[in-house]
Amino acid sequence: MSAHPPLARTRNIGIIAHIDAGKTTVTERFLYYSGRSHRIGEVHDGAATMDWMPQEQERGITITAAATTFAWRGHQLNLIDTPGHVDFTIEVERSLRVLDGAVAVFCGVAGVQPQTETVWHQAERYGVPTLSFVNKLDRVGADFEAVVAAIAARLKTTPLPLQIPIGLERDFRGVVDLLGGRALFWHEDDLGAALEAAPIPAELAGPAAAARAHLVETLADRDEELLAAYVEDPEPPVAAIVAALRRQTLARTVTPVLCGSALRNKGLQPLLDAVIDLLPSPEDVPPVRGTDPRTGETVERPPRAGAPLCALAFKVMTAEDRRLTYVRVYSGRLRAGDTVLNATRGEQEKVARLFRMHANKRERLDEAVAGDIVAAAGLKTAATGDTLTAPGHPVLLEPMRFSNPVIALAVEPRGSADTDRLAHALGKLAAEDPTLSVRTDPESGQNIVSGMGELHLEIVLDRLEREFHVPVRSGRPQVIYRETISREADRAAEFQREIAGQTVRAEVAVHLRPLPRGAGERVFISPLPLEPPEAIAEAVRGGITDSLGAGMLGGYPLVDLEARVTRIVFRPDDPLALGYRIAAARAFREATGIAGLILLEPLMRLEVVTPEEFTGEIIRDLAGRRGRVDGMHPHGGVRRIEAVAPLRELFGYSTALRSLSQGRASFSLHFSGYGEAPPEKEAT
Ligand code: GDP
Ligand code: MG
Repeated sequence: MSAHPPLARTRNIGIIAHIDAGKTTVTERFLYYSGRSHRIGEVHDGAATMDWMPQEQERGITITAAATTFAWRGHQLNLIDTPGHVDFTIEVERSLRVLDGAVAVFCGVAGVQPQTETVWHQAERYGVPTLSFVNKLDRVGADFEAVVAAIAARLKTTPLPLQIPIGLERDFRGVVDLLGGRALFWHEDDLGAALEAAPIPAELAGPAAAARAHLVETLADRDEELLAAYVEDPEPPVAAIVAALRRQTLARTVTPVLCGSALRNKGLQPLLDAVIDLLPSPEDVPPVRGTDPRTGETVERPPRAGAPLCALAFKVMTAEDRRLTYVRVYSGRLRAGDTVLNATRGEQEKVARLFRMHANKRERLDEAVAGDIVAAAGLKTAATGDTLTAPGHPVLLEPMRFSNPVIALAVEPRGSADTDRLAHALGKLAAEDPTLSVRTDPESGQNIVSGMGELHLEIVLDRLEREFHVPVRSGRPQVIYRETISREADRAAEFQREIAGQTVRAEVAVHLRPLPRGAGERVFISPLPLEPPEAIAEAVRGGITDSLGAGMLGGYPLVDLEARVTRIVFRPDDPLALGYRIAAARAFREATGIAGLILLEPLMRLEVVTPEEFTGEIIRDLAGRRGRVDGMHPHGGVRRIEAVAPLRELFGYSTALRSLSQGRASFSLHFSGYGEAPPEKEAT
């Protein structure tokens, strides 16, 4: 593969889906068929190339988004395989931020699962065009049409099947390629490497013609160019249909649907073809936009190697004690040895080496250009979300957003000698993972580690022992509460000091107002009759933002409220802003004291899939966990229960569910928001 194919021949794509839909299995086939790997590594053997962490191989799950590069039909594909588990949603978020297109993988039996819905909406938020692949058609209960219907109903998009399956379950043999007007079959003996094209089986001729007509009509309905062609001839040329399909996929008005069975090696080559034909190249996406930190003006950087460098650090990883920073280059070139400006931090740093990543293996590169996704060694301070630019051309890209941790636990080293090593190791892990936070409890001196869920923290503990060789003891996980107010309140406070024999008074008045759940926090200074100098306004704002970090009920962060500063009594020549900071903090804290503080706890959306006979037990158990059942749907011979329950009550749920259902039910969790905690919990 040449180091730099033209941009139009590059695809940066991600594979997204619910856990177990088959993302890693699909990726392993891509690597095999493209010649990148010479054998197929299976997830269930702990041998998948992309799941290289020991924790991934033992558990058969993807934890970290792994990047790889391979060639297909003269194109270079940079691909990121992402985890499906909600605890690692940051990996999905950062991948979607830097990718141009995605392949959503669906289980042919389970259809649209909750995490698929979440990642689909993430893709939507980043405007990432998405292909759909209905996998596992070899499984008992597979139903292609039902999955397509579920995509339309649950994801509120227009699925456009480009294929229909030939046979299902054990009889699944191949697909009808609707646009090619042919059947495609795969064979077991060559691991599906050669595909055999054949005429459409007679019994499928009718359904195939109907499906093709549906495809063309739906597209013509959305695409004016195709409509014009269609009016001329209801059988427009295939090239015109593909062009319309590409336009509409890029515009996200449709998602083309393909199907197959990754494990049985069927349907993967047409999926790769569709990635090339229908997903965007870096040239097809609009230029990145950011702000010039010197002027605050919006600037654009085009996807061209000749433009000034603009890149986003989206992942930091420590490997063999060396820091690797994954970057997406949006414009310009990045060479090994270059000095770049970290525009987020205002510091210059040197890139020592550049690599193209293949899971945990790397290949040295001299330079990366617009459109590339590479890893850089030598950057010491760049963190996830930082913008790297050419020194004379600073740009700040929009920062990345991370969810706040919902559970925490205390860890301490087994050996007292390991205190420093533990702090060092935790520092490394937190630098990799913006959803992991580490602090020291001032009273006990223990390290408190916070993250997204039980599995997330379990993996952290495991890595401490295995990678960093620091054996630890840990406490029980605790949920992280939030606090909010339930009514409006006003309060003023002052701070006085003696300066040169004179009493200087700083006074600040604050008005608080509750906001709806999930609205966040707003702090502003309302127009005042006398504008304070910027330093004083800044100090007032700072005093309030500081106090938002720890409420008076239990020291938990305050959320969902608006704080408006209604009065500042100041002396314009006051040399010290600190007094205003203290007065503002006091006014704010005292106001929360009379604003009816309440405790909020994290709530999870829970989806349980179970054989019919355990439904009653599972629902009774959920009621005991303060769960609210929102829906029950029959679902291919099993039942799907949807509920919302407090995270606190769901610790150890996997063990409980296993024993309730003799191991036959499965579930998934997904953060849903914060809700008022019952009063008896406030004491804990
Ligand atoms: P991921 O969590 O989305 O990465 O899913 P994996 O690729 O790890 O697959 C989850 C499990 O489903 C593994 O045991 C795979 O072997 C299995 N699997 C993947 N694709 C298929 C398929 O097409 N048919 C069947 N029957 N099993 C599959
Ligand atoms: Mg996986």
